[in-house]
Amino acid sequence: MRLLVVSDLHFTLPQLDWLMKVADRYDAVIIAGDLLDIAGTLPLGNQILIISKYLERISQKRSLLVCSGNHDGDSVNLQNEYIATWLTQVRGDRLYVDGQSLEIGTQRMTILPWWDGPETRQKMEEFLERESRCVRGPWAWLHHAPPNGSPISWTGKKDAGDPNLNRLIAQYRPTYVFCGHIHLSPFRSGGSWYDRLGDTWVFNPGKQIGEIPTYIIIDLTENRATWVSMDDTDSISLA
Ligand SMILES: [Zn+2]
Repeated sequence: MRLLVVSDLHFTLPQLDWLMKVADRYDAVIIAGDLLDIAGTLPLGNQILIISKYLERISQKRSLLVCSGNHDGDSVNLQNEYIATWLTQVRGDRLYVDGQSLEIGTQRMTILPWWDGPETRQKMEEFLERESRCVRGPWAWLHHAPPNGSPISWTGKKDAGDPNLNRLIAQYRPTYVFCGHIHLSPFRSGGSWYDRLGDTWVFNPGKQIGEIPTYIIIDLTENRATWVSMDDTDSISLA
């Protein structure tokens, strides 16, 4: 079984075209947050319409798992914390989003939303707690922000990870966590596209310009993870 993992596409439509083209070579596709570009020229509402169509079309080819990132909020809760309401509305038969989970074989995949404050964080953690009782085999999370103090959260100048995720990883010990958020970690000296925290593999594909995004292939049959960018390829054993 092979998973394709990308993140931080930020409304780069040629990269979504590429994703649509290659999706059926994999058993499932993961987008680990930041689909929209809040600094973009096109209004967010228009971006949401276009991205929603892409997500629907990709999910017609393969199961698609999408978590929200800090660029994806389109509404706020009572505490003024951003939430990606549009993403929960676009979910479909094979399109799994924030707050959902699925099983591929015995592997459970849990999709965690971006948390923007105490309330969204608490909801996310309650969801995780419920999920932890359903795990029968390997457990994978989608969580946009990477853990703190890791090469996958290294910007080249500072660490920009989420210490809350470190705590959750230590508590639940998932098998894999698919993150994004820090675009340049894989390219920076001292940074990386993967790391291991205890028994947990954590990944951040990073971001590049051009028609093909940086991506990670997780081959669960061969127990290998492979990262591909414009000018480099790297592969590790997950055994
Ligand atoms: Zn981003």
